[in-house]
Amino acid sequence: MTSPTKSSPLNIHEKAVIDRTALDRLFECLKDRGFRVVGPTARDGAIIYDELGSTSDLPVGWTDEQEAGRYRLKKRDDKALFGYVVGPHSWKKYLFPPRQRLWMAKRNGRGFSIEKNDPPENSKFAFIGVRSCELHAIGIQDRVFMGDKFIDPVYKSRREQTFIVAVNCGQAGGTCFCASMKTGPKAESGFDLALTEILNKKSPYYVVEVGSAAGAEVLAEIPHRELGNKDEQAAESVVAEAVSQMGRTMETGGIRELLQDNPYHPRWEEVAKRCLTCANCTMACPTCFCSTVEDATDLTGDHAERWKRWDSCFTMDFSYIHGGSVRQETSSRYRHWMTHKLSTWHDQFGSSGCVGCGRCITWCPVGIDITEEVKAIRASSS
Ligand code: SF4
Ligand code: SF4
Repeated sequence: MTSPTKSSPLNIHEKAVIDRTALDRLFECLKDRGFRVVGPTARDGAIIYDELGSTSDLPVGWTDEQEAGRYRLKKRDDKALFGYVVGPHSWKKYLFPPRQRLWMAKRNGRGFSIEKNDPPENSKFAFIGVRSCELHAIGIQDRVFMGDKFIDPVYKSRREQTFIVAVNCGQAGGTCFCASMKTGPKAESGFDLALTEILNKKSPYYVVEVGSAAGAEVLAEIPHRELGNKDEQAAESVVAEAVSQMGRTMETGGIRELLQDNPYHPRWEEVAKRCLTCANCTMACPTCFCSTVEDATDLTGDHAERWKRWDSCFTMDFSYIHGGSVRQETSSRYRHWMTHKLSTWHDQFGSSGCVGCGRCITWCPVGIDITEEVKAIRASSS
């Protein structure tokens, strides 16, 4: 391993090899540049995303088992840092925070004055371990929040500062279907650096691909060596293994028309018998973007605040307008969610709203499976 203190930056799509200890240096480089390093860590029986102090906070030697309504952590027999799939969290919690105070006001005689909001926290994030499906999900939220004339300033400012270290998947979960959605498992774009973890007996090492000028600059400060043919082949077989393990598929041909043509399909009533309208699927989904706004006052009426928080099309309040909820039935709420995600999203944003990450299947408490629902409607469509 050559270890230049600083070498000339590689070009975009060029690759090099780094060893396990160089990842520590990567964390240091990112922190030196003022980034808050966030990524996967094992906590409370799941792999979640949180601020990381060092690479030892990564889920070393852990993997996950996933099925509809089921998630378990399991020990691996190696020291893989990225040997799991995706957990209940997604990166949207950093770019589109679950709760934001929009403004505060205090009574001022017969009127009121707007008070300064708290200064924003450091929201210059470096994301570690972003999977290909998640890159696509971030791309979708980019279009939603800043792709048109109405731009979310909080999202835009966070997004523009974000540094992304992607990881190509080496295994697929039981609920993954990114291959059929053409969103993975290999990261093709939308990252600054992309790692492929190669496991050998001693310690994992990494093939790293440059995705941006910022990524090339960071890599130039990390000890690395030239990519050899064997490294390249090893990295290709890692991704091929993930493709071969993909737990589910979704047939997407004509799906936009399929759902728009079947608003009265009996399957909507069938799924409604199981759906608890708990909204887990929308909270876990990396592309769902709905929010609501709430006002709160103190008991004296001297102080008021306006908050924005995540909301879900599964709640009764979500479609409440002047005297009633538009979607009273569970069947209409499930139909709305799935039809938007897979069909009308194309009309609105020019792509599917689903990236095949499988979270809504794993984290649905009753194991409702969006791929099964599509299959059932396709099998007996009008
Ligand atoms: S589909 Fe599952 S996760 Fe979504 S609201 Fe219904 S019960 Fe909850
Ligand atoms: S709908 Fe389900 S599978 Fe698709 S992106 Fe959302 S959580 Fe993932």
